[in-house]
Formats: sequence, C-alpha cells, structure tokens
Amino acid sequence: MISTNRTSYRGRIAPSPTGYLHVGHAKTFWAAQERARQAGGMLVLRNEDLDRARCKAEFVEAMLQDLHWFGFKWQEGPDVGGPFAPYNQSKRHSFYRETLAKLERGGFIYPCVCSRKDLQTAARAPHAEDDEEPIYPGTCRGLKLEQIANRKFCWRFRVPDGGKISFDDGNLGAQRFVAGKDFGDFVVWRVDDVPAYQLACVADDAAMEITEVVRGADLLVSTARQLLLYRALALAAPSFYHCPLVTDASGVRLAKRHDVLSLRQLRAKGETPESIRRSWQLNKNSVQ
Ligand SMILES: [Zn+2]
Repeated sequence: MISTNRTSYRGRIAPSPTGYLHVGHAKTFWAAQERARQAGGMLVLRNEDLDRARCKAEFVEAMLQDLHWFGFKWQEGPDVGGPFAPYNQSKRHSFYRETLAKLERGGFIYPCVCSRKDLQTAARAPHAEDDEEPIYPGTCRGLKLEQIANRKFCWRFRVPDGGKISFDDGNLGAQRFVAGKDFGDFVVWRVDDVPAYQLACVADDAAMEITEVVRGADLLVSTARQLLLYRALALAAPSFYHCPLVTDASGVRLAKRHDVLSLRQLRAKGETPESIRRSWQLNKNSVQ
C-alpha cells in the first residue's frame, strides 16, 4: 500500500516523443515546473509514447537530454522510477483497458464503425475555437457490440447533449463549454486498438494522483471532455492551469509551424536555457 499525502501538490509534464522538443514545449513545461516549485510540490515526467507509428526511441532519449539541459528536474519519471511506475504510457495498457471496461460497464461508451470518409461527409465543424475535431453526428449511438460482426470499430464517449461543463482555470479563469455544441461524442479507444489521448490522460492523471494539470490553452476543450470522463469514472478531477499558446512574432501558433527550431538547434546556435527564458520575458507569449 502506497501512502501519499493527497494534499500536497503533484504536477506533471507529459511530452510525446514524436520529434525533438521545441521552445513552445519548453515554455509550457517550464510553467508546470514553476507551479510545482511555488507550491513546494512534486513534478512527474510522463512519457506519452502511445502512438507506436510516430513515437521513436531516439526521440525519448533526446527528450530526456533536452529536458535535463534546459534545467527541468522531476522526482518521478521513466528514468528515475517512482511509486506510480511505469511512467511510459506504452507500458500502461492494463490501466487503460480497466478504464475502458469501467466506461463500458457504466454504459458511457458505444462502438462506432464510421470510416474516415463517413465522418468527413457527416460531421459538423466544432463551435469551440482551437479545437480541430469535427463534431460526430451520432450515427452509431444506438449500436451494440453484438451488431459489429467483423467490422473495425472505435469506442466513443456519449456526451450529454446540451450539458454544460464549467471549471475555474487557475490561469485563464472561468471556462464554460456546452457538450454537443463545442464538442461531440469523442473517441476514447482508437480503431487501431490504441487508447485515445482523452482516456489515457485521465487514467494516468488519476492513477498518478496529479493535483494540477498545466498545459497549453489548445487543450481547454479537451479539459471539458476529460471532466466528463472523470465524472463517468467517479474519479476526483485535478485542477487545471492552461497557458496561452506560444506564437511567433507574426502571431502564428508555434505548433502549426514546421520550421520551428528545436531546443537542440537553439543550443547548437549558442543559445542557453537562460537566454531562451529571458526572451520569454521580453516577448510574453511569443518567441523568436
Ligand atoms: Zn460511427
């Protein structure tokens, strides 16, 4: 039995090793580390390597090196272990299976056999800003597992249409979303048998007893989705603190640019962690 003090702050940084870390990642992670430091709490590093096609071992190695170089310090993680190991998502499938089973038993999810093409023709654009997932039209809502036969399917969470989801963001203040309008029934388990981001994130943040999630404001709508999952699973949700999106000098979101410099490129050009952090102070939400 692990005894933990639930009142103490537990934060996390959760990079995905699909490429080299860039300065936008570093800025959000730094905010997470600062929040943990100010609260006298802990920081967990979680390696979000579920996407087998895109995540590569060389990027995991590079990620650890780059985080160390930049000055990140975590007390639990894939390289140092900890009471909630494993910290690599690719090693946590049993947790996700359990979470999926719980959702299924509760009647919160249904199998969906829609093809990509079906979705493109039937889906509506989401109302919420910064969310690119189209609203699912609900075609398979009445479908039962017995009716699937040999077809490929994913699992979707049935959102309460018109249901309001509100939360107080630690940084951005009061947030309010409407299910079915800002976002629709979302995938919790992918057709290629990989847990979807929403499910894995909630399962892990709950299991690792994370008390505050610090991440980019592009995930505000995901937070609304995840709050529905916490409710369905009867789990206590953490607090949320969303950081403004990092843009370049012309206001283009860094995550949308392909030529954005990685931390290792900046390092090769002679930048130091200090000089990079100094540039944040000068430019607030934008970076060079
Ligand atoms: Zn469907």
